This record gives sequence, structure tokens and C-alpha cells, in this order.
Amino acid sequence: MLLSPKEYLYRFGKGASKSLGQHFLIQPRTARRIVEALEITPGDIVVEIGPGLGALTRYLIDYPCDLYLVEIDKNLAEALQTLIFPCKASVRWYLQDILTIDWREFLKGSDGKEISKAPPSLKVIGNIPYNISSPLLFHLISARAIIERAVLMVQREVGLRWTARVGTKDYGIPTVILKNCVIAERLFSVSHGQFFPPPKVESIVVRLRFFDPPGWAPLSYEFFHNFVAEVFRQRRKTIMNGLKSFVMKNRTYAYKPDLIQGCLERANILPHLRPEEISPEGFVRLAKCFAEIGIPE
Ligand code: SAM
Repeated sequence: MLLSPKEYLYRFGKGASKSLGQHFLIQPRTARRIVEALEITPGDIVVEIGPGLGALTRYLIDYPCDLYLVEIDKNLAEALQTLIFPCKASVRWYLQDILTIDWREFLKGSDGKEISKAPPSLKVIGNIPYNISSPLLFHLISARAIIERAVLMVQREVGLRWTARVGTKDYGIPTVILKNCVIAERLFSVSHGQFFPPPKVESIVVRLRFFDPPGWAPLSYEFFHNFVAEVFRQRRKTIMNGLKSFVMKNRTYAYKPDLIQGCLERANILPHLRPEEISPEGFVRLAKCFAEIGIPE
């Protein structure tokens, strides 16, 4: 039997850690829906981020898959380790920060050799601590070639930004990057009353299906990300001004208005638009124009 989060915290005289974003899901139906959204098939390699007290883990262990649990809180991991057996999944624990994980580790068998599954792919799941959602997203993107999909519960505002439409206030850097390497879906909302202790914010479950190569290829991810981030720093200004700032920061260029005008024309982007009015594909066309005319990668 698994302990309820309330029982666990009471019995072990432990408080939920705010800094680790410990809000435990206590609604089994929601937990089951999240796990089902991952669409696990036999033999899959599944990585759970922050299993906590096992809200999702208790369903994940019923699948005949390789299950890797990454938890930073050793006390929680100890409690869960003693409680989740028996199970159908083959389970391995990583007591560490997910942001320091080398995703290729999960593609290795117990003999340390890489599993010969083609194409090698991971399914990632987690009710993730809200404070690491941005770095985690970029950590996932960096491993997009080996991650097939992720089902994540995140703060509602964050989920809305990840899946926003062009021209809306939520559209920004993560949206442009994601739309070029992921098919992102909003699945369902989860109210704060479904957690113990309840967070102040509402949550949303999103599914990300990665594709490779990304839209920005053959540019490097770093170049594209830097380009988009720089343009969005001038969010209230026109694209013309955002690009001016990007060019100024790349010292290989003597700034000339013609240079920017030329790129905008070739990328078929109107100069008076604001960054949030430019489509993800438009950003790729523009970044490629700038890369071609010599700004170093
Ligand atoms: N999965 C559980 C659930 O749904 O009830 C717990 C979710 S709770 C929102 C977040 C979990 O992530 C906690 O167990 C916390 O200890 C863990 N965690 C926080 N930061 C982490 C990190 N950087 N790496 C791995 N786990 C982390």
C-alpha cells in the first residue's frame, strides 16, 4: 500500500519542500489520465521526473516497460522504493537533479552498452516542479533526437505559452522554439484542489511529440535560440528594431539598415510587424538569412 502524501508527511514529521515544488497529486483519476496520455507500449523506455510519493508511478509500474525514476529528494525516494513492489516494469532509480541528467544514460542496458533499438527513443512523464519548467524544457529539447514524446503537468500559464498561437500575448520564445521541433497539445486542466498541499496556481497537462530534424536545421540550436531570444527582448518594438539589436551584438557586422531590410525582404517578413506577429516558420527563414550573410554560428 502506498501512503497518502498527508500520512507520509505526518508519519515522518516531514514538510513538503516548497523549493522542490512538492505538491503531490491526490486525485487518482487525473493521475491515470496523465499516464494514459503517454501511450506506453510494451518494451518502451519511460523516464518519470520527480515521482515523489508515487501518484503516477503506481500506474506506470503496471506497464511492461523499462521505467527510470529520477528524484532529487532522497527521503521521498526511499519511502517510495519500499512501497512500489511488486511491479511489471523493470525499475531503475536515479537520485539526482533531472537537469544534470545525460539522457543517453537511459538508452544503456544493465551491462552499460547502448540498447540497439532503432530509432532509440524515450517517453518522458512528470508532474514537474513549476520552478524548473523552463530549464527542463530546454534540457528536453537538447535531447530531442532521442526523446519521442513527453507528457508533462506544468503551471497553466507556462503550458499556455508553450502551446500559444501566433499573434497572442502568450506567444514568445518557447513557443517559437517548440513549434519548430515539437507537436504540442494542451490536454486538460488540473485544479489546485487536486494536490496536497494545494499550490496557488492552476495546472495544465501538455503532450509534446518531438520531431527531428527541427525546422531550424541546418542552423545550430544555439544560434536559432539566441536569434529568437534577442528579437523577443524588444517585444514591444517592430521586428526591424529587434533585428537591429541582434546585429549590433554580433560584432562582425557594421550595422547598415539595408542589411536588415534585405533579410526581411528575402524572408518575406513585413518590417513593421512585432515579434509576436511572426510565425515560427518566419523566424526560421529570417535566422537562415542572417546566418547566410555571415553572422558566425
Ligand atoms: N509525481 C508526484 C506527484 O504527482 O504527486 C510529485 C510531483 S511534485 C509536483 C514534484 C516532484 O519532483 C517532487 O517529488 C520533487 O521532490 C521532485 N523534484 C523537484 N525538483 C527536482 C529535480 N530538479 N530533479 C528531480 N526531481 C525533482
